[in-house]
Amino acid sequence: MQTNLIRQCRDRLPYECCGVVFGAVRDGRLRADGFAVVRNAASNPEVSFRFDPAEWVRIHYEAQKNQRTIVGFFHSHPNGSPTPSRLDAEGWDGAGAYWIVGLSGARPEIRVFGRTPEKEWYPIPVKTVPG
Ligand SMILES: [Zn+2]
Repeated sequence: MQTNLIRQCRDRLPYECCGVVFGAVRDGRLRADGFAVVRNAASNPEVSFRFDPAEWVRIHYEAQKNQRTIVGFFHSHPNGSPTPSRLDAEGWDGAGAYWIVGLSGARPEIRVFGRTPEKEWYPIPVKTVPG
């Protein structure tokens, strides 16, 4: 899954790529088994992202129909590290897990974060299906 996610994000360079992550939470452990790209409707998609509202609604309903659980959201940082930016801190209400795909450097890296009620970021250990 991580390889595919990185590939999708690279395909959309120089823009940020964003979408939802599917999976399950069992025994307090987050397990991700897929994702769906949502069109980035931000006015400056090189440095930010915003879900296209219509596509976001469609994916949400499709997930329900197929009994898939959205466990988080992802977006890429075309030129940055896989850590939350200032805009990320402002734009996210803290629901679910927050996946960041850092594409700068030779080796892309994915990190997953949660947020405390005090809005502090903390890393979340995640299992993903291979691929
Ligand atoms: Zn970001």
